[in-house]
Amino acid sequence: MNPLIAAYFAAILVQIVIRARIDGARRAEKKVDQRITGRERASLSLLSINLLVAPILYAATPWLAFADYALPPWSGALGLALLVVSLVLFWRGHADLGVQWSPTLEIRERHQLITRGIYGVIRHPMYASLLLWGLAQPLLLHNWIAGGLGPITATIFYALRVGPEERMMLDAFGDEYRAYMRRVGGVVPRLGARST
Ligand code: SAH
Repeated sequence: MNPLIAAYFAAILVQIVIRARIDGARRAEKKVDQRITGRERASLSLLSINLLVAPILYAATPWLAFADYALPPWSGALGLALLVVSLVLFWRGHADLGVQWSPTLEIRERHQLITRGIYGVIRHPMYASLLLWGLAQPLLLHNWIAGGLGPITATIFYALRVGPEERMMLDAFGDEYRAYMRRVGGVVPRLGARST
């Protein structure tokens, strides 16, 4: 297999392992608020088609070959670098959020607002990770459907998700979250701000 495609699927496996370590504990937590709307389901489906289904079809079948393109070799190195940074953010996000993490919008009975670790640098490390992943995808998977749509899908998911998530966090934590939003940037660190 092409090493860039292999790296892409290795990174998917790393993500699965990182999530599996907290998944049991976070499922056991009692929820007090769940905001799983049609829009939420649609954006999660779009994401899994783009991250997993299309790349598998691209790697394992000839069906998407009509949409292949070629790139110069240096672009693969850039793609790998973006993938590594994306995985580091993904890992730190899950490590610091712990059982507070959920694939959909949920508040637990014992939900704690996390503002330390990577959450003291940016409020949305997992979404920053996704956006970088989306940028890496077309550099690793040289196909308009399996790779080229990556940045678009990641941006659509982020745009649909972040507003409702922040509204839910404001409903749950009020002024505490408002102050956190003022202090810490979303997906880009706020330069000059205190990081505590
Ligand atoms: N937006 C964050 C978290 C994504 S997981 C990121 O990009 O890293 C989504 C869940 O995380 C939401 O359901 C919410 O309950 C929870 N969450 C988001 N930010 C949080 C925070 N600072 N502290 C605790 N939980 C948080």
